[in-house]
Amino acid sequence: MKHKFYGGVHPAEHKDATEHKPIAPLANAPAQVVIPMNMHIGAPCKPIVAKGDQVKIGQLIGETTGLGAPIHASVSGKVVAVEPRPAATGFPVMSVVIENDFQNEVSPDCKKRDNVDALTPQEIVDIIRDAGITGMGGAGFPTHVKIGSAIGKADTIIVNGAECEPYITSDHRLMLEHGEKIIQGVRFIMKALSLNNAFIGVEDNKMDAVTHLKGLVGEKNDITVEALHTCYPQGAEKQLIQRITGREVPPGKLPADVGCCVFNVATVSAVYDAVVSGMPLVQRIVTVTGGAIKNPVNLLAPLGTSFEHLVEEAGGFSEPANRVISGGPMMGVAQYDLSVTLGKATNCVLCLSKKEMPATSERHVCIRCARCVNVCPMHLLPLYMNMYSKKSEWREAETLRLMDCMECGCCQYICPGRIPLVQQFRTAKFEVRQLAAKK
Ligand code: SF4
Ligand code: SF4
Repeated sequence: MKHKFYGGVHPAEHKDATEHKPIAPLANAPAQVVIPMNMHIGAPCKPIVAKGDQVKIGQLIGETTGLGAPIHASVSGKVVAVEPRPAATGFPVMSVVIENDFQNEVSPDCKKRDNVDALTPQEIVDIIRDAGITGMGGAGFPTHVKIGSAIGKADTIIVNGAECEPYITSDHRLMLEHGEKIIQGVRFIMKALSLNNAFIGVEDNKMDAVTHLKGLVGEKNDITVEALHTCYPQGAEKQLIQRITGREVPPGKLPADVGCCVFNVATVSAVYDAVVSGMPLVQRIVTVTGGAIKNPVNLLAPLGTSFEHLVEEAGGFSEPANRVISGGPMMGVAQYDLSVTLGKATNCVLCLSKKEMPATSERHVCIRCARCVNVCPMHLLPLYMNMYSKKSEWREAETLRLMDCMECGCCQYICPGRIPLVQQFRTAKFEVRQLAAKK
């Protein structure tokens, strides 16, 4: 049964440039990859290789130091630096730089498994942990930790194929071209959680994917593929849970607290690769698109490939990009340096043209129209959160549940004053965390 969630918006989709384009391998492999040690939520990994080391694809190069997921080499070659490099998060991050030898040598640790049906639930979780799998839809939460904390608590698995952000089509193509990996990957997760069924939620602007996945589930009927009426931010965890199960995750609580566990389709596909082929998470599909891109594409690229290289693979710029974003236009992060690289959660490199992203000279005045309140899916009061944040009254903003803001951008999208609300909330959340740390 499908339910409603509060708020949301309907931005123009802009998916037509890439939704029918098959996933393409890179025409030219990158000569160098820069692999940041923090492609996940939690503590950065500790590099375990040094300058001069030879590495192979799938070889462990970063160990966890707490909450996190290990990191592996995405190309074979020589480590030429272990040092902080610019990252898409906006801060320099300790990174392992590998010069590609173009030999594509695979680590002997990556072994194909024949009898996957004999694996125990714990063995599946261990494989997912060792393969460094994290949420690939944006958040980057370590998947083995999510599964571990949901064992015995979750009664419902939800797989997120909503891909509700405009422009992005990487998950859509994955569902169409590798749907069998998703279905089998979901079954591995069902086994890990000792559950017998799961849902896959897909927005109804991708009915071809819905039909395809339903066909792959077949008569086994253990996985329900739901077509969901398109509405942003349906792909957000809490909204998807509410849409599919009717359960509302209370503020400050987690999906497991309402018996749910949510995984992105790309994450599930990576689980399949790890279990069956023994290959850790070393590559991903990324949509390179936007009005400033000559030939928008969906690419399969090694982690650590620079945005600059990805743009070249898409034919380069047709005009100077007015803004480059890692992710979609609603939740993505603006980039100022194209040497930043593809991470585990980078689903899109969006290069907006002048027409798509006109410069504004408005004064960003709030006229108290309350439209932001009407669309906030978290039931927040963005106008007041903004008012207190602008005055640096962080405590007051926090009292208004600022920390529950998931930065979905609905308020900013609808705001007639074009107030950069999300940026304001990111700054305010940073300040609140600083105050908490000082305490
Ligand atoms: S939508 Fe914009 S202008 Fe309207 S109340 Fe919210 S912040 Fe103010
Ligand atoms: S960005 Fe935050 S405040 Fe704005 S609509 Fe989304 S959750 Fe609400």
